[in-house]
Amino acid sequence: MVSNRLTYRRRHAYNTKSNKVRIIRTPGGELRYLHIKKKASAPKCGDCGIKLPGIPALRPREYANISRPKKSVTRAYGGSRCANCVKDRVVRAFLIEEQKIVKKVLKESKEKKR
Ligand SMILES: [Zn+2]
Repeated sequence: MVSNRLTYRRRHAYNTKSNKVRIIRTPGGELRYLHIKKKASAPKCGDCGIKLPGIPALRPREYANISRPKKSVTRAYGGSRCANCVKDRVVRAFLIEEQKIVKKVLKESKEKKR
């Protein structure tokens, strides 16, 4: 097969990250470059680093065009931390508060004995 030399169809002729192409055949039978967009990376959990389920992986500018409910889940720390990390945070906070109460009660009972 003869490989024709093709030309970029946009402003500059450098093989940069933002100028990636695929060769396609048009309906008219002509080979030409199809410019492909950069791959989007999914938003990750800020604590454990897994991809956040329920939130689409889009290029930064595309997030401006979708509605708010599509960018987060309805939970505390919704579009930022995964469910397991939020659970850990809730449990940790609860235990710390409980420990404070236990300390307070022990201190009070010691003072009563004196
Ligand atoms: Zn996490």
